[in-house]
Amino acid sequence: MNHKGIEGKVLLASPRGFCAGVVRAIDTVNLALEQLGPPLYVRREIVHNRYVVEGLRKKGVVFIQELGEVPQDGVVIFSAHGVAPEVRAAARARRLRVIDATCPLVTKVHIEALKYARAGFTIILVGHENHEEVVGTRGEAPESIRVLSTVQEVEDLEVPDPDRVAYLTQTTLSFLDARQIIEALRCKFPNIRGPASHDICYATQNRQNAILELARQTDVILVVGSPNSSNSRRLVEVAAQAGVPAHLIDDTGDIRQSWLQGADTIGLTAGASAPEELVGSVLDYLRGLGYADVETLGGVREDVHFALPSELTAAPARGRTSGD
Ligand code: SF4
Repeated sequence: MNHKGIEGKVLLASPRGFCAGVVRAIDTVNLALEQLGPPLYVRREIVHNRYVVEGLRKKGVVFIQELGEVPQDGVVIFSAHGVAPEVRAAARARRLRVIDATCPLVTKVHIEALKYARAGFTIILVGHENHEEVVGTRGEAPESIRVLSTVQEVEDLEVPDPDRVAYLTQTTLSFLDARQIIEALRCKFPNIRGPASHDICYATQNRQNAILELARQTDVILVVGSPNSSNSRRLVEVAAQAGVPAHLIDDTGDIRQSWLQGADTIGLTAGASAPEELVGSVLDYLRGLGYADVETLGGVREDVHFALPSELTAAPARGRTSGD
């Protein structure tokens, strides 16, 4: 019986939680700790999740904002969100040893940006101005890249040559929002170039599809994820656009009983950087309130794995200095 005396149910989204890029980034830090030992420096949060970051901090990882905080001969890991070329150059200049945990799907967007910039295109990067991934991608060609995130900004946009425009997207956007913006871009620049559909990654897309399915069958949805996690915030928005209230929680401590008032069925999912342990603890909490029936919705099976950075898997590299 739930807190209103009604038997309640939890529907779990599938897929949910860690994506291949996050698994790779966390495995990279753990393997580096094993091979090199602490202290290990990670530029910014390795992935945007408080629990993950705190766990690694306890193992001896030092999270830094800028490379100036890394001592001479230190080892620095770049986060899954990627970095601008100037950061790589700064690491080379300081002769820091770099291990690059940038998600390969983010690297793909960097490469596309470079390709279009070299061909003289104005590049419209659809994304959130201050997000680390966008800052990193824009850094590939700051003079050619314009960042925008609304249809209004598309309407206001002026470019030197409307026939030489390309677009790219941040990997963690809401595909519903991105679709509108891309349609507006195609309408304004009929010859615009871009990826076949968009660069929103498989994990973002699958988790958004899963929460849409959840929204069809639940009264309220809890999304496990940190407030600075872009893909987790987009999940909340997608659910809200589908008409179901959704709440972002780092852990059970954030849950307000008022959200669950009158809810017979609660949906539960997790952003791409949120660990399954946290989903388990939320489930335990909900069971304690009487939501004992737990069902997992069917969803696509993900079978994506990325190789670990060669800096760790290649021949003994202790003492090597590299900026790439
Ligand atoms: Fe890579 Fe997508 Fe995961 Fe971002 S959300 S780390 S782009 S797989």
